[in-house]
Amino acid sequence: MADYDLAIIGGGLNGVCVARDAAGRGLRVILLEQGDLGSGASSASPRLIHGDLARLERRHFLRVHTALRERDVWLRIAPHLVRPMSFAVPAHAEARPPWQLRSWLLLYDRLASRSGLPASATVDVTHHPIGHALKRPIGTAFEYSDCVVDDSRLVVLHAVDAAARGAAIHTGARVTRAERGDTWRLIVIDRGYRKAITARALVNATGAWTASVADTILRVPAPQLGTAQICQVVVRKLFDSDNVYVFQNTDGRLIFASPYERDFTLIGTIGHAFTGDPAIVAIGTRDVTYLCEAANRYFREPIGGADVVRMVTGANSVISPKGRRERDGMMRLDARGRATPLITIFGGDVTTARRRAEKAVSELTRFYPMSPRWTATAPLPGGEFAWSRFETEVDIACDRWRFLSDEQARRLVGAYGLNVRDILGDAKQRSDLGPSFGTELTGAEVRYLMQKEWARFPDDVLWRRSKLGLTMPPADRERLAVFMATES
Ligand SMILES: Cc1cc2nc3c(=O)[nH]c(=O)nc-3n(C[C@H](O)[C@H](O)[C@H](O)COP(=O)(O)OP(=O)(O)OC[C@H]3O[C@@H](n4cnc5c(N)ncnc54)[C@H](O)[C@@H]3O)c2cc1C
Repeated sequence: MADYDLAIIGGGLNGVCVARDAAGRGLRVILLEQGDLGSGASSASPRLIHGDLARLERRHFLRVHTALRERDVWLRIAPHLVRPMSFAVPAHAEARPPWQLRSWLLLYDRLASRSGLPASATVDVTHHPIGHALKRPIGTAFEYSDCVVDDSRLVVLHAVDAAARGAAIHTGARVTRAERGDTWRLIVIDRGYRKAITARALVNATGAWTASVADTILRVPAPQLGTAQICQVVVRKLFDSDNVYVFQNTDGRLIFASPYERDFTLIGTIGHAFTGDPAIVAIGTRDVTYLCEAANRYFREPIGGADVVRMVTGANSVISPKGRRERDGMMRLDARGRATPLITIFGGDVTTARRRAEKAVSELTRFYPMSPRWTATAPLPGGEFAWSRFETEVDIACDRWRFLSDEQARRLVGAYGLNVRDILGDAKQRSDLGPSFGTELTGAEVRYLMQKEWARFPDDVLWRRSKLGLTMPPADRERLAVFMATES
């Protein structure tokens, strides 16, 4: 008998969503990730949970409707990670006529009619907080509702839930060979040790590595794929209002500027073809200049390359070899004849990842008995409350742990939801939580991340399970590295 029903290579969003879905349907699952969870393209997404206005322009109405339904699902199952937000599109007649924007937004409202989020509106920005950071002569903007998400925490919490439902999650575990017989036999270098495992079916969820894994490790015909890169930059906060700006750039692209970790702004996205090693993806000066110039067209405060504090980038496979991204990603089952099943899944939007994984696992129902679809209603760990209660949960945390500032409570509830109690426990003062690293991070939180969320190195904590790397002084990072080394 095989060790597992399903082995998944790749711990990006696609891999962990499949792992969670399959484990919850009763399959014996193992997920193998060569680095850290979410260390590929999944921590470089635009962090949007949305129907996608640009898609509306291309008249993909059904896709928009489906994505907006998924937006409601995410609000229900991840009320801590997914935050409803007002999106503002400054009207700029050069790009798209205001009447056209307004009519799209009315249609967007119709397609999202059951969400409970505010409907779109026209705003006179000269008398509205949205306008404070904007250059004149922009007089009007359109406001609509969508959501933002912490993408890398979404990945990690899927893995936590998959593990709670019985899945084995291995990080630092690189699959180096696979043989397809009556079962799949995989050779894995797991934190330096060579292991062999067998599984009745295999999922290739290796993102930008999909074709090379198919070709050199699985030795099956590799899909004809290109690779594309996504580029975004983080700068110090450009605006105080709590909304996302959607700019229409002169070349027709929509560029987002979103609040990022309280004191910063994320500007993106642009994507283009990528060649090279997907493990080393960097943003070129041209892309940085493009994004800064796009922001400068609208914001009062000018920015340039020197203001960029972090670049957020990643690569993934795309169906067209020319590097144009297939927006819904790909999911394909190969089980011709009596071949042991192989599913290939990559790319696509964060918004539709749950559904893509559900479809992928459902493809296996003809091979194994399994329980019905379930992921649309079961909350992710810590998310057992209604999204409209987020502020109440922050107040409850402030009341229970009086040493927390409002901002600290908001960060902790936003990251861990109700599971914040597993970190803070009965602490009466901050010093009960062990050493401090910077103003936010405590030994108790780091220990929790190491024991429950597979964090091994400082970057796993500072960039994927949080974004505290943006503000942590170098000396504290060094102390954190020593602390993690002694705890492991
Ligand atoms: C150009 C571009 C545009 C994008 N646009 C959007 C957008 O508009 N909206 C949106 O929501 N998202 C967007 N994204 C993000 C996108 O949604 C992500 O691609 C998504 O999160 C799915 O990632 P994944 O799981 O397929 O790949 P990844 O997150 O890259 O995961 C693949 C994982 O496989 C692992 N791996 C590889 N080889 C092995 C091996 N041999 N053994 C073990 N592990 C291995 C890697 O380490 C990696 O962690 C974009 C991404 C790109 C690149």
